[in-house]
Amino acid sequence: MKYVLVTGGVVSGLGKGVTASSIGLLLKACGLRVTSIKIDPYLNTDAGTMSPFEHGEVFVLDDGGEVDLDLGNYERFLDIKLTRDNNITTGKIYQSVIDKERRGDYLGKTVQVVPHITDAIQEWIERVAMIPVDGKEGPADVCVIELGGTIGDIESMPFIEALGQFSYRVGHGNFCLIHVSLVPVLNVVGEQKTKPTQHSVRGLRGLGLTPNILACRSTKALDENVKGKLSQFCHVPAENIVTLYDVPNIWHIPLLLREQKAHEAILKGLDLLGVAREPDLKEWTTRTEVCDMLHDPVRIAMVGKYTGLSDSYLSVLKALLHASVACHQKLIVEWVPAGDLEDVTAKEAPNVYKAAWDLLKGADGVLVPGGFGDRGVQGKILAAKYARENKVPFLGICLGMQIAVIEFARSVLGLQDANSTEFDSETKNPCVIFMPEGSKTHMGGTMRLGSRRTYFKTTDCKSAKLYGNANFVDERHRHRYEVNPDMISQFENAGLSFVGRDESGRRMEIVELPGHPYFVGVQFHPEFKSRPGKPSALFLGLIAAACGKLEAVVRNYGHVSMLVTKKCVMSNGHQNGNINKSSNGSLNGLYSNGNGVHF
Ligand code: GLN
Repeated sequence: MKYVLVTGGVVSGLGKGVTASSIGLLLKACGLRVTSIKIDPYLNTDAGTMSPFEHGEVFVLDDGGEVDLDLGNYERFLDIKLTRDNNITTGKIYQSVIDKERRGDYLGKTVQVVPHITDAIQEWIERVAMIPVDGKEGPADVCVIELGGTIGDIESMPFIEALGQFSYRVGHGNFCLIHVSLVPVLNVVGEQKTKPTQHSVRGLRGLGLTPNILACRSTKALDENVKGKLSQFCHVPAENIVTLYDVPNIWHIPLLLREQKAHEAILKGLDLLGVAREPDLKEWTTRTEVCDMLHDPVRIAMVGKYTGLSDSYLSVLKALLHASVACHQKLIVEWVPAGDLEDVTAKEAPNVYKAAWDLLKGADGVLVPGGFGDRGVQGKILAAKYARENKVPFLGICLGMQIAVIEFARSVLGLQDANSTEFDSETKNPCVIFMPEGSKTHMGGTMRLGSRRTYFKTTDCKSAKLYGNANFVDERHRHRYEVNPDMISQFENAGLSFVGRDESGRRMEIVELPGHPYFVGVQFHPEFKSRPGKPSALFLGLIAAACGKLEAVVRNYGHVSMLVTKKCVMSNGHQNGNINKSSNGSLNGLYSNGNGVHF
């Protein structure tokens, strides 16, 4: 096993996670098998109890791990499935050491940060790096480790010490350190300043770690003399200094790294030059270029609570993007704060109310994402009602599905006080109820979490077709409440269709409204398994419906055979017509002009 460590210096928010994922992707493109570990030096055991408003979304893994959103980036870029142990936190490490101490495993010794915590960190890394994550057997070739935070933070000290020891232990040729830093440009003179990077590399060295490669964030490519200066003062060869300058979208980062031959520097550091091939990023490059050139807009209203911080819904945004690129549409997300749609806002701030409704009404599709707590729930219900009544494509995820059911109960069944017991424990018409296996006293890890199977009751519905005419699907969950199974027949008699259920048939997973162009609610979170080249079926359904292409996609069982050329996207002439199914089932005409560039 070879290790690549990615650290960050100067300031936080440099895009270390995306850089680390891009490095992984580049190595994968060289024919290597790659896994990854993210270290978060906070005391929370996992991200499950952290507010998305402060920390960005909680990403959910197949095994139910609630982890940092960077693991989502790794899964998307590398098309892998990580485990909860791939996210190391201070909380997890200390808990394991304290548990060991309580068992008496330290045989009377004084238990200390060094060596016990630092040993536990190294053992954890070695153990987790061996877990296969790409569906193949046996361990990967390279493990990319990202250390969260910035060099010099007090809380990351035990990790730095552990990683210093680790690099020495695994030895030369097995460990490569990439330091992501900032080269600011001072506006007055427009000069690229190297001093902050010099200081942070000095800090790194002082802690016993030597960088092999510097990845410098800057607005433009680094001047040669700036590189020379950095090389001289940081003792890193000039060819090992790459610039991550500003790019139109993050899919460019792996390409930027390849252009600057970062893979050669890394492979050299890992003694893999003879083993790896030249990186093959054809598919990735095409998709990136296509994404840059899209201009036909598809507007999706995101009706949520945390509309101020887009990281709170990162995977949902990525899934929307994947689906939009597949449909050749330029994604425009209209953020609609749910509370602004409510009657109270009409009274208190009529302008805000009007602006929110204008956004909603101007959208081609409506998405209500997951959420907790009652703030904004009424606004989400109004958005679902608007989409249902006006036949606007709608996707409700988790809470978004639950509010769609509540709305139906109130408007169609006439049950005025219908509600979720999450918001009104006394309601006479509890159409969404607490699940028996949940806990009301403990917050961490007590929800219905991770991958669960949904069986389609019928394959004659949009979602089953979008999933490739599947009989079942495995998607990731994170919820405490569910649609009340005792009210299902009432709903179904009134026209709502619960087309996907769990193995018992009592737990509702997918709801559809037949007769509506696209009205789908899901108890799970399809966004977590969407990939740039494999968009999530239900997001694809939403985008396709929003831009008038759903019929073609459904007819093709959710298969968007993406035969894309730049010419086709730029000319944009024949995207909406001329759809014919080829013998292999791909959509010729919609996604190809016959040149056959696959991605
Ligand atoms: N609050 C709801 C529940 O616990 C929905 C959760 C979610 O949207 N992730 O069931």
